[in-house]
Amino acid sequence: MNDRRRRGRSGRRPTRGPSDAGASGGEHLTEYRRRRDFSRTAEPKGREPADDSAPRFVVQIHDASSLHFDFRLESDGVLKSWAVPRGPSTDPGDKRLAVPTEDHPLDYRNFEGVIAEGEYGAGTVIIWDEGRWAFEGRGSAADALAGGHLSFRLDGHKLHGGWALTRFRQNAWLLVKRDDRHANDHGTPDPARARSARTDRTLRQTAADAAHASAVGDDDEADADPS
Ligand code: MN
Repeated sequence: MNDRRRRGRSGRRPTRGPSDAGASGGEHLTEYRRRRDFSRTAEPKGREPADDSAPRFVVQIHDASSLHFDFRLESDGVLKSWAVPRGPSTDPGDKRLAVPTEDHPLDYRNFEGVIAEGEYGAGTVIIWDEGRWAFEGRGSAADALAGGHLSFRLDGHKLHGGWALTRFRQNAWLLVKRDDRHANDHGTPDPARARSARTDRTLRQTAADAAHASAVGDDDEADADPS
């Protein structure tokens, strides 16, 4: 069902060569790392290995040059990622554009904070929703993604039930809620008022906390892991 289950605890494929040593995600993360200067951003480099339980998902709200939601599904040792300008909608009648972005490391699911001015994706990020997801269908999730259609369930704090991601042209997918008991006409909350599933903070509060932390000389303000 899920090809991750066949792997060891390291999350690496046994068939991979030595080129991916040192971090999980292997060559999938080349583009992610190329875009970032890790001496200047607190975003993770990507060291968290996959575990053997159900794969995770995260939906972040990212107040970058244009505000958007980032929808990420753990698959194949990385977070497969889409930028969803209007965000996921609980209304099955809403077809939301989802533009693929580079694979992100698994530990990006923990990132909430501020990406510094001048850096790629500069702006504030909150973890709007997170949880586990399950592929529905034949074969593997990786094959379904490669084929351009994925049916799945989400078990998050805010998002639940059946969903589908469908590619309709190169670099353009649609994210649609299935019409099930978790469907409703609430749509998507106002991102300016939406709160972090993890810290209950809004974007504005998260940015203010980061500014305050840097003003008092604490450079841990954007640390991805609060524990
Ligand atoms: Mn983004």
